[in-house]
Amino acid sequence: MKNRSCIVCEKEIPHSERLDKKFCSIKCRNRHHNRNKSALREYRKGVSDSLEGNYKLLKLYLGKVVPLTELRMLGYNEKYFTHLDTKGDKVVGNAVWDLALQKVNEREVKIYQLQL
Ligand SMILES: [Zn+2]
Repeated sequence: MKNRSCIVCEKEIPHSERLDKKFCSIKCRNRHHNRNKSALREYRKGVSDSLEGNYKLLKLYLGKVVPLTELRMLGYNEKYFTHLDTKGDKVVGNAVWDLALQKVNEREVKIYQLQL
């Protein structure tokens, strides 16, 4: 029979234990889950901070046409938006809550407020 080891501390799991057992103890199981939760928490905070940063920039430029490069230089990250603003089947812009950014030409975008 193949030896199995704890995925946290690599201590051997006795053959008498369940076949699908991954941890040697409750302590290791908790450590594993806490690490995963902490990583998820950090990831979510990063996304949330990026959305918040993007929203602040959109608010600063609301109603204006601005070069996308300028927004990027100030920290705008196009990867983070809350949803697509659409008209029918057509995507009009990328929104961060009630503010959105719409491409007006190859270089510039217009910042506008959604009709809620
Ligand atoms: Zn362990």
